[in-house]
Amino acid sequence: MNFDPVSICGILNEERVERRSVRAVTSVPIQTLVSPSIWHALQERSRTSGQSISQIVQMALADSLDVEHDAIFQVSTSGAIVQGLYQGCVSVAELRRHGDLGIGTFEDLDGEMILIDGRCYQARSDGVVVEAPDEALTPFACVVHFAPDSIADVTGVTSFADLTARIDRLRTSRNGMVSLRITGRFSRMLVRAACRTQPGMDLVEATARQSLFEFVDVPGTIVGFWSPEYTQAISIAGYHFHFISDDRAMGGHVLDLAASSLHVEVNDVNDVRLAIPETDAFLEADLNRDHSEALDIAQRQVRGQ
Ligand SMILES: [Zn+2]
Repeated sequence: MNFDPVSICGILNEERVERRSVRAVTSVPIQTLVSPSIWHALQERSRTSGQSISQIVQMALADSLDVEHDAIFQVSTSGAIVQGLYQGCVSVAELRRHGDLGIGTFEDLDGEMILIDGRCYQARSDGVVVEAPDEALTPFACVVHFAPDSIADVTGVTSFADLTARIDRLRTSRNGMVSLRITGRFSRMLVRAACRTQPGMDLVEATARQSLFEFVDVPGTIVGFWSPEYTQAISIAGYHFHFISDDRAMGGHVLDLAASSLHVEVNDVNDVRLAIPETDAFLEADLNRDHSEALDIAQRQVRGQ
């Protein structure tokens, strides 16, 4: 074939620096040559869609290689979990097909889920963390194939509110969803782990019986999501973080923290896939009520043992 190939590598890097004021990226750079006709088509698509060349190339590659990209896979809805619909409906094996990072819970609200590096952990209310078997079921989870778009180091973090205020400044939109991975040594980490409970006990009541654990000077990772207010009927609006220690022995739903230095990775997400449970309890429930106040209490309350 006779054409002058065009290298797109420089474009990928230039656009990232220009479009996102970040210090570095951790996505893998690729260098390839494309024909002038493909190059012109890429430029035209970028002009008409407003997407960067790198976004178009990444989406095209993901489509042709059958890789889910920038898509959150969520099981059930926040409204259902608030009402006590804790019957498992999707397996850990299935979740791991849809993502390598995520959070959730297990059947009967049996602890907190942390999916990290493709492995799924269960932080139980007795303080023990175990790797969840592939056949374990979840009634509510949110996972993604994590691919950071931007990173930042933050220092002198005094609290959960302080950390999330810093992350607010890293987010590029009030309306897009993001997944997050935050690593470092935590001088304080306060987590909860939900107790196994009876189906039908609502989430506020169930989390009032939760176990609390406070860890000191522990290296580990927070995984989680930020979702806009408009998603609150389905997602948990705002920040929702779960923690696991580097030795995978401590973990839970994050209530508060402090750290002298943290490495924050942010992944913008533009697609959400919702798995609607086919259980009788879900299909027959009244999910049209406003559950935002109950969900807020359940996410933040620190009552417990
Ligand atoms: Zn949680």
